[in-house]
Amino acid sequence: MIKSVGIVGWRGMVGSVLMKRMREENDFSLINPVFFSSSNVGGHAPDWADGADKLKDSYDVNELKKLPIILTAQGGDYTTEIHTKLRQIGWDGIWIDAASSLRMEDNSIIVLDPVNRSVIDNALRKGIRDFIGGNCTVSCMLMGLSGLFKHNLVDWVSSMTYQAASGGGAQHMRELLNQFGIINGSVNELLQDTASAILEIDREVLKIQQSSDFPSPHFGVPLGGSLIPWIDKDLGNGMSREEWKAEVETNKILGNAKNSKDSIQVDGICVRIGAMRCHSQALTIKLKKDIPIKEIEEIIDGGSSWSKVIPNNKEDSVTKLTPIAVAGTLDIPVGRLRKLSMGPQYLSAFTVGDQLLWGAAEPLRRMLRIALGQA
Ligand code: NAP
Repeated sequence: MIKSVGIVGWRGMVGSVLMKRMREENDFSLINPVFFSSSNVGGHAPDWADGADKLKDSYDVNELKKLPIILTAQGGDYTTEIHTKLRQIGWDGIWIDAASSLRMEDNSIIVLDPVNRSVIDNALRKGIRDFIGGNCTVSCMLMGLSGLFKHNLVDWVSSMTYQAASGGGAQHMRELLNQFGIINGSVNELLQDTASAILEIDREVLKIQQSSDFPSPHFGVPLGGSLIPWIDKDLGNGMSREEWKAEVETNKILGNAKNSKDSIQVDGICVRIGAMRCHSQALTIKLKKDIPIKEIEEIIDGGSSWSKVIPNNKEDSVTKLTPIAVAGTLDIPVGRLRKLSMGPQYLSAFTVGDQLLWGAAEPLRRMLRIALGQA
């Protein structure tokens, strides 16, 4: 019998991409979707969802508990409140979620099936019911480097990230574009005048960026024409929560027990930049042994159907290894591969991934298919 699936958070950034991908892959033919909303209860389901009921209240536990599967991209606060309530009243359905709240719980699995399908299958057999999408940079990094991990070649990784505005959600993207518009508007006349002094333009831009009127309610500080060297909460030990996720989530996805000899160190600095979509990462990888770069390229290329090695030259790097080249695709290009001067076991890499696809929507829709026995 076709299963009913509760869909929560479908209007947000991740939710919109998830709905698009599910329609492209015809996933809706496998389920009876029940749409929820927190801001428009009783409103119409999306136009494309023929025959779906009106929007139900995403905080109505009595409606949610009727469903065998709930797929949510609503956010962490929602998960913390509603998942707890549902489990407390004995709901034993499958919860598939984009938010980070449940990722490190003992009875949850972080899903990235091209990398950890066996971990997911074992968990389903054991009766685990919470399947959570991983952190976007972690998932994109693992999708790019899965060959190196499968061949047990990675000693440690240092990742320096360049994360897009869309990582913060729909409102953050709008804020970035508003900021760019205001900056441009403030110097528009000077820009038209080819004889104007560049230092005057620079001064005007800085004045507007530093003004208390410059709108940045979502990021909290200006991003347009700048960057933000901190993402997510301050853990109080010099580390951001985004940085903490890299090591713990990588090892959980790979099925490496905490503090075991298999556990891999992954650490670095996470930075928000003014890209719209796609998270990029500059990686320093300490390999367990010295192997030729040609072999490394073959291993990375063959790691998954989506990892692609970009030749390490200027032309290919600037055209194929950028957020603009990758946005909207499932490819995870990995380039700038070379041995570093620190020694033959030290490898550099630069990778870009659409964090809304492999970093968010794609593992969730694939997990839904696995839960339905259709993958
Ligand atoms: P988001 O765009 O802010 O959407 C979350 C919810 O905000 C929506 O479901 C919607 O709920 C509400 N909303 C309020 N104003 C909105 C507007 N103007 N446009 C669209 N929605 C609006 O957040 P998100 O980036 O999708 O993230 C959802 C969860 O996924 C978070 O836990 C996040 O950490 C996680 N995640 C995000 C990414 C990413 O790259 N963005 C990657 C991996 C995981 P109603 O329709 O009920 O009002």
